[in-house]
Amino acid sequence: MVDFIIVGAGYAGSVLANLLATQQNKKILLIDKRSHIGGNCFDSIDEHGILIHNYGPHLFHTDSKKVWEYLSQFTQWHNYHHKVEGFIDGQFVPIPFNLNTLYKLFPTFMAESIEKKLVKNYGYGKKVTILELQKTDDEELKFVADFIYEKIFLHYSAKQWGKKIEELDPAVSARVPVLISKDDRYFQDPFQAMPSEGYTKLFEKMLTHKNIDIRLNTDFKELLHVSGETFFFGGKPFEGEVIFTGMIDELFDFRFGSLPYRSIELVFENHKAESFQNATTTNYPNDYDYTRITEFKKMYDTRNDTTTIAKEYPQEFVYGENTPYYPLFTEENQKRYAEYQEYAKDFKNLTLVGRLAEYKYYDMDDIVLRALEVYEEKFK
Ligand code: UDP
Repeated sequence: MVDFIIVGAGYAGSVLANLLATQQNKKILLIDKRSHIGGNCFDSIDEHGILIHNYGPHLFHTDSKKVWEYLSQFTQWHNYHHKVEGFIDGQFVPIPFNLNTLYKLFPTFMAESIEKKLVKNYGYGKKVTILELQKTDDEELKFVADFIYEKIFLHYSAKQWGKKIEELDPAVSARVPVLISKDDRYFQDPFQAMPSEGYTKLFEKMLTHKNIDIRLNTDFKELLHVSGETFFFGGKPFEGEVIFTGMIDELFDFRFGSLPYRSIELVFENHKAESFQNATTTNYPNDYDYTRITEFKKMYDTRNDTTTIAKEYPQEFVYGENTPYYPLFTEENQKRYAEYQEYAKDFKNLTLVGRLAEYKYYDMDDIVLRALEVYEEKFK
């Protein structure tokens, strides 16, 4: 007897499995085609003894006390505030662009004048998106805005998305706004930390329950068949609820065409050095084919004679060949998604949740919050 079939063991599927099992005593079948739980948050200890993020860096941060408290049931936290540097004009400077970045890249007299104008026009401590800053009437500010656009966003985004940022949803570049302060941290959220023993351990705690049956290495299509607006499980119409967190276009056999995603190829290297770079992550907007390098031991102050890094090479997602990471937010793609969403409405027992199923650029905390809300609104 299964009450819920949940496809995908990332945050969306795991949070819902946890709540339904522990709060409602529901029987869950959780399936994932990968050999592990945790989705793209999956981490593991590499052969050198360093905790690495197998699908690239995941830095936990949130302004939601609710999310923080919920996840704190499953992990202790290691205090950590993420810092990123960008390699710009031969120097390593704080990213997002802030007042310290300004003073590093411009002569002092100019930086002072620009700082005054930024503070006067927007206020100290404020965040201004690059697209917003470019709208300024002030010549000097426009010059800085265009500089930031070119040196930080233009080429990075060409690598990351194969597009200009103005072709993407403005929310994408708004993730890394110009920060009118001297705070060098990447995020300003009140809650920022790394799970003490990593994300995989957190997911294990979340999913260890007698009512949750986890089946890994299992494609949902092996167990679940769609015919008309009905799901079939074990040859019979499935009466329970299907929570699908995978690619919505795949669920519906690409009937409205495929939804584009971006993928990343991660290249891991271990170096025989205590430290590889200054910051945990260094962005290379203008050099190399990779976008950034992350040095994992810096997230946990790991002691080790060597250090493991990962270089990120963005690429097009190709079905069956690599992993979908990011929905590609153009207007056209969002319209196509809307067609799938409309089609999904006819399914009485289907819930779509997650980055892939909702075609949304959820951060970790966003998707936990979304799953908590779906639970409260629909299943409580
Ligand atoms: N971005 C950029 N240059 C940077 C950092 C970010 O152009 O140095 C843009 C780029 O389009 C990127 C987006 O801002 O995809 C969001 O960056 P974030 O670090 O939030 O990406 P994530 O960590 O989610 O991959």
